[in-house]
Amino acid sequence: MLKQFFSYYKPHKRLFIIDFSCAVFVAILELAFPVAVQWLIDELLPNGEWDKIVTVSILLLAVYVLSTFMQFIVSYLGHKLGINIETDMREELFTHVQRQSFRFFDNTKTGHIMSRITNDLFDIGELAHHGPEDFFIAIMTFTGAFWIMFTINPTLAIIALVIVPLLTVLVTYCNIAMNKAWHRMYHNIADVNARVEDAVSGVRVVQSFTNEDFELNRFNQDNGRFRKAKIKAYKVMAGTHSSIYMMTRFLTLIVLVVGAWLSFNGSLSYGELVSFVLYTNVLIKPVDKISALLELYPKGMAGFRRFQEILAKEPEIKNDPNAMEVDKLTGNIRFDHVDFSYDGHQQVLENINLQITPGETVAFVGPSGAGKTTICSLIPRFYDVNNGSISIDDHDIRNITKKSLRSQIGIVQQDVFLFTGTVRENIAYGKQNATDEEIMLAAKKAHLDQVIADLPDGYDTQIGERGLKLSGGQKQRMAIARTFLKNPPILILDEATSALDTETERMIQQSLDQLAENRTTLVIAHRLATIKDADRVVVVTNEGIAEQGSYQKLLAMDAVFARLHKIQYEKNED
Ligand code: ADP
Ligand code: MG
Repeated sequence: MLKQFFSYYKPHKRLFIIDFSCAVFVAILELAFPVAVQWLIDELLPNGEWDKIVTVSILLLAVYVLSTFMQFIVSYLGHKLGINIETDMREELFTHVQRQSFRFFDNTKTGHIMSRITNDLFDIGELAHHGPEDFFIAIMTFTGAFWIMFTINPTLAIIALVIVPLLTVLVTYCNIAMNKAWHRMYHNIADVNARVEDAVSGVRVVQSFTNEDFELNRFNQDNGRFRKAKIKAYKVMAGTHSSIYMMTRFLTLIVLVVGAWLSFNGSLSYGELVSFVLYTNVLIKPVDKISALLELYPKGMAGFRRFQEILAKEPEIKNDPNAMEVDKLTGNIRFDHVDFSYDGHQQVLENINLQITPGETVAFVGPSGAGKTTICSLIPRFYDVNNGSISIDDHDIRNITKKSLRSQIGIVQQDVFLFTGTVRENIAYGKQNATDEEIMLAAKKAHLDQVIADLPDGYDTQIGERGLKLSGGQKQRMAIARTFLKNPPILILDEATSALDTETERMIQQSLDQLAENRTTLVIAHRLATIKDADRVVVVTNEGIAEQGSYQKLLAMDAVFARLHKIQYEKNED
């Protein structure tokens, strides 16, 4: 774990070395100071060498100014190092999360991911900055101070060492307690974040059910658990700090009393006594540093462990090492004995066989939950089949690179996701570096040009978060424009108009028909009226593909499709 942690220092080696050297220099100056004081008291003061005392004082002043400057460097570069490492890790995490397959997102709460990208990484950054530096400096100062104390007076120095075993016990105990407490706290704050994420993105549902109190209640439970865990952690921390404080005062007192006695017996000079007390303080400083590390280390490491946990999750769907780029698929799609399950237990698709010819428009109908969306998600490899295979133009899709496969499939769904940004940027999402002409043409084809012309800033109008300022129909047109721009040979329309009113649906339908021209198209339709012109209708039920054929032929068969048709027809009567 530590080895992995330190590997993040590699790109910032230079920064680390400069920062570290300055820190060592500051520590050496600190160690030298009491020696100067001792010399001042024992040698210069009794002989009244005032001019030398002034010189030494000025020298000390210069040393202090230098030391202050060094401390500035240490603090500045140290933090810079920490934030650099944190930034690298954040980038790595983001990249890794983006590479994950759909199943990862099915099983991971957004709030938990957010929490890792923010809180966890803050603490790792802090640890990266303070960890190795403070640890080394503490050890160096401690041994340095002890060594000097030992040369001044071995007996007294060894007495001062009583602090070591006490400290070790305390440190070990607190380390374990803090580790547990921080780990729990991290877990709890991630829950709080997930709860906020849910309540904010679902605020319309919450308010329409007037369930604010219910949500607040759930939030308070999570928030309360977090509070408890954090208080517990701080309690352990406060205990550690105060015990260390007590121990250090205790130590100073012992040194002072024993030192006074030694001095009374003539085995310690006044200068040595003062210097000894000063060194006791130097000896204590690393103890403070270590106690701060005790807080940082478990916190940062808990974060780092969770960071590693995510990085260890290999994306489920990866390119085969021999995967090939395929430029121009025609859309000859074939499902061959396909079985699929989301969770490995419940079979969603069983033995699906299906052949779609290039340019064909195939409509999928059937009860909700039958697996229509699932069938379509298998084609771009959002999930991989459990058994059987899917091929396009006789290439098993697992042998095509994900990029070339997905770049040739366009998907328009019921929910349109628009990014924060302008209308132009949102349409251009369909094709990186599209020209203005291409964007305008796509908008025109999607019958968006008039809508955009009426917007205050035209193509440069900002769309609010998730495009809230556009109507459902307009958003759907944006999605269509994007897909026109992408211009894929294979098109999937998954209930693209189901959320719209009949009037709007009819208008959008024209654009969709135009989009489907000259492409292999899979349409999942809720309203049967929209698929009258499909080349073929495939009826999917919980048992699999129940029947298929032309609209008229299926009606004539008077089976499942005819029944669906009848239900909908009757509904439309009233
Ligand atoms: P349809 O599109 O026909 O309404 P779906 O393909 O969405 O049906 O769903 C088929 C079945 O798979 C349903 O039982 C549904 O609950 C389940 N399902 C859909 N998506 C997921 C998912 N991401 N994780 C687990 N189960 C899912
Ligand atoms: Mg569906």
